[in-house]
Amino acid sequence: MPKGDNLSNASKNEAHSSLQSPTHSALHWFNSFRNRIAVLFGCLLLILGIIVVSYIYNASSNRLTIASGKSLAIIAQSVSNMLSSTLQEREREIILLSKRPLFATERNQEKMQQALDRIKDSYEHYAWIGFANADGKVMVAGKQMLQGADVSQRPWFILGSQAPFIGDVHGALLLASMIAPMDDGSQPRLVDFAAPVYGENGVFEGVVAAHSNWAWVRSVLNSALPKEHDGIEIFIIDKHNEVLYPNALIHSTIVPNNIPASGEFQYNEWRDGKRYLTAMALVDSQVSTDLGWKILVRQPSDMAMSAVHDMRVIILLISIVATLIGVFTAYQLAGALSRPIERLAATALGIKNGSRQISFTETDSRLKEVISLSNSLQGMMTSLLDREHSLVQMNANLEATVQKRTNALEQANKELAELALRDPLTQCFNRLALEEAMTQIFKQAAEDGEAYSVIMIDIDHFKAVNDTYGHQAGDEALKKLVELMHNNTRDGDFVARYGGEEFTILLPKTDSKTAAERAEQIRQIVQDTVIEEIGHITISLGVATYCQSDQRAEIILDRSDEALYQSKENGRNQVSIN
Ligand code: GH3
Ligand code: MG
Ligand code: MG
Repeated sequence: MPKGDNLSNASKNEAHSSLQSPTHSALHWFNSFRNRIAVLFGCLLLILGIIVVSYIYNASSNRLTIASGKSLAIIAQSVSNMLSSTLQEREREIILLSKRPLFATERNQEKMQQALDRIKDSYEHYAWIGFANADGKVMVAGKQMLQGADVSQRPWFILGSQAPFIGDVHGALLLASMIAPMDDGSQPRLVDFAAPVYGENGVFEGVVAAHSNWAWVRSVLNSALPKEHDGIEIFIIDKHNEVLYPNALIHSTIVPNNIPASGEFQYNEWRDGKRYLTAMALVDSQVSTDLGWKILVRQPSDMAMSAVHDMRVIILLISIVATLIGVFTAYQLAGALSRPIERLAATALGIKNGSRQISFTETDSRLKEVISLSNSLQGMMTSLLDREHSLVQMNANLEATVQKRTNALEQANKELAELALRDPLTQCFNRLALEEAMTQIFKQAAEDGEAYSVIMIDIDHFKAVNDTYGHQAGDEALKKLVELMHNNTRDGDFVARYGGEEFTILLPKTDSKTAAERAEQIRQIVQDTVIEEIGHITISLGVATYCQSDQRAEIILDRSDEALYQSKENGRNQVSIN
């Protein structure tokens, strides 16, 4: 390929690259082996990282869920145990009280008063404790509260008169004004404990009962909750899933329908729309009345999982750092792989740009493919250079041959052109050459105004010469005449065979007189010359000279022809001037 093409291609490429769009340059960047390996490794490591992170996250989420769930279940169970033991304790206390002789048979007002006062003092959460007789009238009560009041219609009296009874949590009615509101300012709520009192012979004598302030659950729950409870909340709900505790949520229906079974835990979406890890334990108090209470313990799922979330962020950061290190290492490694290839490419480019002194030298690489490639390229380059060399040689030879042939051709053409202008017999100029010369000389005269002359010559009685001595001898006579004319004209004069035995001589820069003298000189010499075989011949001549009024070269020729005719007319062997 010619050098110029290389240059124009290179500049095209440059112009092309400078017009490249960002997408093109990104594609160009990605077309590097090194960059591709780095990106590939980056993607692989990232995918690996994501897989590892999600695996670890799932595994630890499950474990943490189980661990957190179990601990919630344990809390629920321990709250349940504490609650049920407190309930049992209260119930036993009331049952024992109902069986005391003081209430069953003795019924000494004063002693009963003292006993109840003592019991009320001994347990801070007793809002009320007392004994109502068989008619439902409060005979005696701790701190004499509601003494004499009629409680015959109270559920605890009706049910407690038949068997030991524990009533569900309810608002205070008769006692409402006597009990301080709860800690959170809500209405006091009570749990009733009652047991029948039987006298001698099993006669029903009345009911002993206690109303325990619901506030006692708070102390129970507080002791069950760990110090750092991480959003853990405890609920006590009744058999209708109504909240009994905390007080602020009483009568609200925030409890989901699908709560876990007792001792179990699961994720539940509560009515507030949030997800909670929820555990449940039934309050199995083994008391006389089946209250059906349940303990629900919940913890927001994100708090339960916060340790895993933190861990996921850390692992994610670690895997990002690992990915970056991996990409960097891969980039370096790919560089070590691609560098020899890049060097080979640079060498090849150098060769393409005309350097013939460099060679492919990756022969000490540790990669045998690279060595093999280098050797192949070197071999290919050597053979190409050999071919290039012989091509250059061949080209030079060819050019020399072509030059030689061209010269010969030019010479031949020149000779041919010369031949076309020469008369083959006499070797003087022919009619064609005469016409060209006439045009030329006329043009020159018209330009510089200097006259030229034309002599027209015809051999006298030449037919007779031919007839007498033969055509061959006639030819020789023609040649001789030409020789004589050449010998008796100047260098710049032009001798041509007009046709047959007629000739024309052009005399540049020659006036009429000089031309006539020259014509006469020629006539004389011809007349005097002895021609072999023939002897003497004579010629008739007509002379004409350029005038500025002449419009064409032929006009002067015609005039000289007329003069020649004149010479013939006047007896031949003479010169006429026109
Ligand atoms: P004139 O004095 O009136 O010119 O008489 P002439 O015989 O020369 O005139 P004419 O024109 O009748 O004859 C010319 C002759 O020249 C006729 C021809 O045979 C002869 N001739 C023309 N060309 C050649 C040639 O190339 N060689 C020979 N040998 N003869 C030629
Ligand atoms: Mg003639
Ligand atoms: Mg003649």
